[in-house]
Amino acid sequence: MANWSIEEAERVYGVSQWGGGYFQVGENGNVHITPVPEDPSIRIDFKSVIEEIREEGVQFPVVVRFHDILRSQVASLNTIFRNTIEEAEYNGRYQGVYPVKVNQMREVVEEIVDAGAPFNYGLEAGSKAELLTVLAMNVNEDSLTVLNGYKDAEFMQLALLGRKLGRKIVVVVEKYSELLLLVKTAKELDIEPIIGVRAKMTVKGRGKWESSGGERAKFGLTISEIIKTARYLESQGMAHCLKLLHFHIGSQLTDIRAVKEAMTEGARIYADLHKMGFALDYVDVGGGLGIDYDGSNSTNESSRNYSMQEYVSDVVYGMKEMCDLEEVPHPTLISESGRAITAHHSCVVTEIVGEIKSNSAQVDTRAADGEHFFVKNIRELLETYDQQTNMQEVYNDASQYKEQALDAFKLRVLNLEELAKIESMYWQIMERLQVWYAKEEYVPEELQELDYSLSSQYLCNFSVFQSAADTWAIDQLLPVVPLTRMNEPPSVNCSLVDITCDSDGKIDQFTIGREITDVLPMHPLKKDEPYYVGLFLTGAYQDVMGDMHNLFGRLNEVHIFSYDDDPEDFYIEEVVKGSSVEDVLNIMQYNPRAMAQDMKRLIDKQISTGNINPREAVRWTDFYENCLSGYTYLKP
Ligand SMILES: *Cc1c(COP(=O)(O)O)cnc(C)c1O
Repeated sequence: MANWSIEEAERVYGVSQWGGGYFQVGENGNVHITPVPEDPSIRIDFKSVIEEIREEGVQFPVVVRFHDILRSQVASLNTIFRNTIEEAEYNGRYQGVYPVKVNQMREVVEEIVDAGAPFNYGLEAGSKAELLTVLAMNVNEDSLTVLNGYKDAEFMQLALLGRKLGRKIVVVVEKYSELLLLVKTAKELDIEPIIGVRAKMTVKGRGKWESSGGERAKFGLTISEIIKTARYLESQGMAHCLKLLHFHIGSQLTDIRAVKEAMTEGARIYADLHKMGFALDYVDVGGGLGIDYDGSNSTNESSRNYSMQEYVSDVVYGMKEMCDLEEVPHPTLISESGRAITAHHSCVVTEIVGEIKSNSAQVDTRAADGEHFFVKNIRELLETYDQQTNMQEVYNDASQYKEQALDAFKLRVLNLEELAKIESMYWQIMERLQVWYAKEEYVPEELQELDYSLSSQYLCNFSVFQSAADTWAIDQLLPVVPLTRMNEPPSVNCSLVDITCDSDGKIDQFTIGREITDVLPMHPLKKDEPYYVGLFLTGAYQDVMGDMHNLFGRLNEVHIFSYDDDPEDFYIEEVVKGSSVEDVLNIMQYNPRAMAQDMKRLIDKQISTGNINPREAVRWTDFYENCLSGYTYLKP
């Protein structure tokens, strides 16, 4: 830590590794954002963003959305596909769709549709509510709308309504009975559908979503069912409606080999259908394009061992090779990349509001008259052990003394103050041991755990369940970084805990370099200066999957646009208010207005007893009502 530098900060926090070209550690030690890779002169200092949020009077924690990053990702994916298709002399086009389930926020979907317009980039929906949304959101008749998921008659009618409006809406059949329903509904309404089939793939993706592929996958048709579908459509005079083959082997594919294998299998199915006389126009390769959350560029579960370009090359060249071998036309390629589009654009900014440390409070441990010999024993160990060489023994003795003391306390032999003294001296010994072995090459196993037990827990003003659900649910790793002060050596090793009353509400998995650790070096808290940390890459799934555990609601949001003419290179385009206490109570079936009236009655009753005077009563009543309409998080 002595030779701390910005390079060292980059190594510890890996900002450039997971930042996807959008985030770096600036020379001043703050996180810098370059939201438009083609224009690196636009460089936003996160500290100015925080200052602007404070000036706007928006309370933390806050979701910060960088709309330019969304636009940049849409442009990147489409441009990479276009260029690769040109370079490969591939005869089809790319017509991607954004799967809205990854982040259905209106502002996000609108931005994606707008940025995707020059590429005829479309949308994908997987439920009736999502279908209603995409019908209204993307009115571009040249872009595709792909419908996956389980469907009922209403769903089919809505899809056919879209056809009536001149839209390219593809209904992807997930199970055979859906086909019968679709054909029946289409005939009744006399509207011609565009039909896709989802293949159940034998290749499985690797990583957490492995079960999306394989024979036990929840979705898709077996090869026999695909053939049955094609033949049924033929018998109904609708063979020409079968236009698309779909497959999706899972999200966050960690290993590029899975992509290659899926392409081979999918391309073979397409080619043979073609040779059977079913001339499909589209092959939809689903989602799965991964994000390097931990910055290791590896097959770690929170990483992936390929770039967007490599993924696209494997899709385009994989399809081309098979089609050329089989002498069938190159289909139009579709991908449903969601995570890759949205992950980078949003992050959660929160303040550290406290430090929890097992050894923080120390009582006076000086010798007192008549104290118990247990106290004397551990003091002796504390004062003499410098001369000893066997640290393991010191550790064992100290631990034993502490355990004995606890037993003695329960047996009423030691009193509370004596126990506190022993505890204080125990932690002093542990701290010294930690300093000592930091210089040693070999460290006994028990002592290695000392680092964790002596580390701090930084209390973060947020809820893991609302803002980082996947870190709790599936051990997803998300990058956590101090937003300022990275030019100072971070001298406090700590994990993060949230403000819910749930011991699962914590983050204690980080990566430093390629190593997974349970603590992250952070900076010592200062009395009069807030310390902000950012939880990054929360734009995919995290933004919309959080719940209201402990009644912590949705976060305030600020939407940032870059703007070259502004001295800070950005402006806040919109502030979206998060949930108030009233909002979350309403969802849980309470009536906050009635609650406020009840409280007023109870307070007023105290006036008659003389317990509260009328002026105080008004203040208390107003205070209760203000808290009801206030934010659910801590007000530092
Ligand atoms: C969830 C899902 C996607 C999105 O996958 P990403 O890995 O986020 O790109 C795409 N297609 C289907 C069918 C899905 O269920």
